[in-house]
Amino acid sequence: MTVHSHPEATVPQRLRILFISPEVEPFAKTGGLADVAGALPKALARLGHDVRVLMPKYRGVERLSGPLTPVIARLRVPIADRTAEGALLEGRMAASLPIYFLAQDHYYDRDGLYGTSDGDYWDNCERFVFFCRAAVEALRSLGWTPQVIHANDWQSALVSVYLETLYRDDPALAKIGTLFTIHNLAYQGVFWHYDMPMTGFGWDLFTPAGIEFYGKINFLKGGLVFSDLLTTVSRTYAREIQTAEFGCGLEGVLQERSRALHGVINGIDYEAWNPASDAAIPKGYTAEDLQGKSACKLALQEELGLVPEPVPLLGMVTRLAEQKGLSLVLEALPALLAEGVQLALLGSGEPTIERAFSEATSEHRGRVAVRLGYDAALARRIYAGADCFLMPSRYEPCGLGQLISLRYGTVPLVRWTGGLVDTVKEFDSAKQAGTGFGFAPFSSEALLECVRRALGVYRQPALWTRLRRNAMAEDFSWEASAREYVSLYRKAVKAAALP
Ligand code: ADP
Repeated sequence: MTVHSHPEATVPQRLRILFISPEVEPFAKTGGLADVAGALPKALARLGHDVRVLMPKYRGVERLSGPLTPVIARLRVPIADRTAEGALLEGRMAASLPIYFLAQDHYYDRDGLYGTSDGDYWDNCERFVFFCRAAVEALRSLGWTPQVIHANDWQSALVSVYLETLYRDDPALAKIGTLFTIHNLAYQGVFWHYDMPMTGFGWDLFTPAGIEFYGKINFLKGGLVFSDLLTTVSRTYAREIQTAEFGCGLEGVLQERSRALHGVINGIDYEAWNPASDAAIPKGYTAEDLQGKSACKLALQEELGLVPEPVPLLGMVTRLAEQKGLSLVLEALPALLAEGVQLALLGSGEPTIERAFSEATSEHRGRVAVRLGYDAALARRIYAGADCFLMPSRYEPCGLGQLISLRYGTVPLVRWTGGLVDTVKEFDSAKQAGTGFGFAPFSSEALLECVRRALGVYRQPALWTRLRRNAMAEDFSWEASAREYVSLYRKAVKAAALP
């Protein structure tokens, strides 16, 4: 009898995965991608895979990483008609999790990752062409070849393009599967066409079917066109970005690749975010014993100068950007305060929004508290001390704030968009099921109506406790998402093996 092997059998159980990201927590961070890159590879390693991470060696990295070992002392990378030289250094993210840092001081030894407060660095195209091409060049001499490369955001998007074009015939690199993740479609890495020779690609790639986009080079588009599989950070956002409203001009490309595009929700680190052991909050608590949460609320009111009354306290921790729907909060504020609520907001970002909230504080002292700036510890005290967490985002690829609030038993009030749809469930009083409240129209009336619904339940303490416990019983830790990525990696490996 002939035994036919199942196709699954061609992909080994333990995968070799190279995770490429322009930022990785705790080494360098500007946004949510760093959190993902800091946590997902660890979860993959815990599942038993041979995962390694690659990022640029920015200024200050070595202070956080400890001593690094050179693994490729001289890495030569063609850039335009020159050769730029870098080096690959190895450190550890965890005991069995190596991280490679690509060193090239001219490109990466700077104050910022992508720019300063004056704007983006003028040579970002060159810096990330180098990053992507060096990643591919390094694999030719590293002595370790991944079966799958997981690249993230525009800065690492060209890796798939190199593998599919200039390095296509290199037997050492053949059959590497590629998966590319979009963390926020609004950032695409768009550069003028004069930079095209720097990439080493022929002009035949500078077409609508390649990396050309309205007369310019678009890195992200390269990742979308040339990777075996694509993901974004929630199922709803994966659908939304195929429409003109959310597609940032790339909806056509995404529609064409619709079969390759998947949504995998981000997790949060359940050890690092734990109200029972959080050192930044005044009193710990659990779903069974929520008393500590009331103490956290009172302490927060006192810390922020809010009247220490038992009224509903709404919290926000957010970038102050148009995306986050802050105009709705400002519009609804008088009516919200008329409902008797207090608002505690921590955020930083656009000066006009900062100013508007500062003015609201002085107008409504004792009932609205605003802290401008980035403050990780205060953020935790807001997650713990607030009754509800407000996220009226215009769009939200995944969103972490609502996941943290669920974990802290703080009821999320969200706009139904992107990852917020996939992670918050409207509370149903009759069934006592659900974890929060939401609204769909992008309007202050809809926001207000949503808050009123929440307050209706807040006034019924037993029901409210039930709702909090439902929230705390949700599990958005990384393990489930890491497993989803693994099954997609296997798909990518198979796709790459096809002739
Ligand atoms: P985005 O990545 O679009 O900013 P997310 O909700 O995905 O939004 O992630 C934001 C993360 O950054 C959350 O963990 C939030 O607590 C944190 N954060 C945002 N602003 C601040 C701030 N001013 N101080 C402290 N933490 C902040």
